[in-house]
Amino acid sequence: MKTYDCIVLGFGGVGSAAMRFAALKGWSVLGIDRFGPAHDKGSSHGHTRVFRKAYFEHPSYVPLLQESAELWDELNKRHRTKPSIKQLMNPTGALTVGLAGSETVEGVLRSCQQHQLQHECFTAAEIKRRLPIFNLTDDHVGVFEPDAGYLLVEQCVTAMISQALKHGATIQSDTIVQDWAVDESGLVTVTTDRGVFQAERLIVTAGAWSKDLLPFLHKGLTVLRKQQHWYQLDRVDQKQVNDFPVFLFEEPDGHLFYGVPEIDYLGMKVCRHSGGQPIADPTKLDRSLDNEELSAVESFMDRRMHFGRKRLVHHSACMYTMSDDGHFIVDQVPDHDNVVFAAGLSGHGFKMAPTIGKHLVDVLAGERKSEFDFLRLRAD
Ligand SMILES: Cc1cc2nc3c(=O)[nH]c(=O)nc-3n(C[C@H](O)[C@H](O)[C@H](O)COP(=O)(O)OP(=O)(O)OC[C@H]3O[C@@H](n4cnc5c(N)ncnc54)[C@H](O)[C@@H]3O)c2cc1C
Repeated sequence: MKTYDCIVLGFGGVGSAAMRFAALKGWSVLGIDRFGPAHDKGSSHGHTRVFRKAYFEHPSYVPLLQESAELWDELNKRHRTKPSIKQLMNPTGALTVGLAGSETVEGVLRSCQQHQLQHECFTAAEIKRRLPIFNLTDDHVGVFEPDAGYLLVEQCVTAMISQALKHGATIQSDTIVQDWAVDESGLVTVTTDRGVFQAERLIVTAGAWSKDLLPFLHKGLTVLRKQQHWYQLDRVDQKQVNDFPVFLFEEPDGHLFYGVPEIDYLGMKVCRHSGGQPIADPTKLDRSLDNEELSAVESFMDRRMHFGRKRLVHHSACMYTMSDDGHFIVDQVPDHDNVVFAAGLSGHGFKMAPTIGKHLVDVLAGERKSEFDFLRLRAD
């Protein structure tokens, strides 16, 4: 049996990046996934993902976001070999709106100030003048980050896998990993429904299925069902179709909504970041339209946006794998230096997939970056 230098278990968002960086090291790499490349049954699908560096979640993410921006840019150059290929990262800027002092606005400002990120602060009147679609009260404020935008999520995953394959990696799709083990000599054995594979090192990036494969995380992860919606809107001002930023909007009750501008026939994407129904088995994710989530999003739109008429064009179910504190967990598996993992990306990990994937490979190569220390496995 061939012994690979590295097996990557799950080639979704982070796993595809890890495969690419492991292959770039010159390692022989096997990626295994229960589905195929850029599938729609995990957490890395739905057309777009927001990319922003002014991070309300915690300023410690900013260095990881700065590295990610460079890595997306570098990948884009390799991937976009002709002008007809769409850009992976599309800069629209991001506007965060909330009441003055709200958690999201304050968090964004904290990251901007600590890391000297370019930003502009707006009053409600200034936002309404620039983006008349928003229906705001006078006590709303906004922070605009020009250096933000959206990523084309499926194309990003495909580009990372293509680059990995180009550097010699192989993939095994439609293969379910049942178990993995490390023997006394350190050799990793991965048992699947389609045979057994061996490697010197293992990277576990299993998204919503992480607790099946990393039992020590069992208590610390909750999988939430989340819904994405796309709307065609009759705008009050048609010009805004092209000049619209990504936005985050915190309501006074703490619920957070976000939107991605209309980029094609699907229209504007509007979703709720907060909330979500816990689910027991990611494999049995209900893909039908959840009216509770839909109604929360549509009430938000009716309350906070001016438009003539809206039509729901498309919807898609996805999963957030929440850690206890909403921060990622990126570390070595206890007692196994040659097994690393990223889990609990808590609904905000895609934008950092390249830097997380690269870090996992670097840790296996003995080069740990201190910028990731705040995301190490936390004691109960
Ligand atoms: C609706 C929604 C909106 C989001 N918006 C944003 C955003 O705007 N910006 C942002 O940065 N992030 C966002 N996120 C979060 C981000 O998309 C995720 O954090 C990230 O994509 C997760 O990547 P992952 O590699 O952990 O999981 P996945 O991409 O799901 O990859 C896990 C892979 O492991 C495979 N796998 C699991 N178990 C097994 C097994 N036993 N055998 C074989 N293969 C297995 C799965 O098939 C899957 O391909 C959003 C998420 C959702 C759901």
